[in-house]
Amino acid sequence: MLAAVTVPQTQPFPAPPADDGTGLDLTQANERLASMTAKERIRWAVDTFGDRVLLLSSMQKTAVVLMHMFHELGLTNEVLFVDTGYHFFETLRMRDEYMRRFHLNLVTLYPASTIEEQEALYGAKLFNSVAGQPECCRMRKEMPLLAHLATKQAPVLVNGLRRSEGGKRANIKALGPDRRTNGYQLSPIFDWTTADVQAYIAEHDLPMHPLHAQGYPSIGCYPCTTPVQPGEDERAGRWRHLRVLTEEAPQYCNINFSDGGGI
Ligand code: SF4
Repeated sequence: MLAAVTVPQTQPFPAPPADDGTGLDLTQANERLASMTAKERIRWAVDTFGDRVLLLSSMQKTAVVLMHMFHELGLTNEVLFVDTGYHFFETLRMRDEYMRRFHLNLVTLYPASTIEEQEALYGAKLFNSVAGQPECCRMRKEMPLLAHLATKQAPVLVNGLRRSEGGKRANIKALGPDRRTNGYQLSPIFDWTTADVQAYIAEHDLPMHPLHAQGYPSIGCYPCTTPVQPGEDERAGRWRHLRVLTEEAPQYCNINFSDGGGI
């Protein structure tokens, strides 16, 4: 049983301007974006929305591709990294390596409490229970991100989601509304395969998170991430410890968001 604890809420988002000057028709925008390269999609977004475009980076392989494109385009737009306090050491090391190499405008976001404070407050490691995990993800991932985005007007959050990952991601479009923020989510590599990602990294000789080579195709916080076995889904290693307890275990947290839920 979790203790009832009031956690701080994020600020309300500023309403989008009645006319933000983009005159954006989402259907037409997606038709245009479909025929562009991934780099052209990012360029289009920055030309259209300016510094409202922010990249959300997990420091995994798809994030490397997008950070490299930001670098090649000479962008000073913010690159956001949410430091949950539960990251693998290798993830933090890759963040520092990428920043040194690409000179990006990195913004590391932190939860309101340390992991020690959170564990003392709840008297438990929240990630170990089906009831506690959503609260842990909300406090350590979603809230720091939303608190930062609430300082922007109609932000455009760039992510590395791909249709080839399947599940809820199988039908994503390049550009979608983000109803949490009154802004948008841009997925520049929505039509890439895993092979496309690997080919880009090899072509540009980019450093890759070392855990990918150790059986981790998808990497989150260390308490909630395990390697996958041959034949398993790419995300099978996420929250595996909860999946043995219940079929209701999560597949996604809410840091990436679409249609009212995590994706
Ligand atoms: Fe907590 Fe696990 Fe979510 Fe990380 S992935 S914030 S450790 S529940």
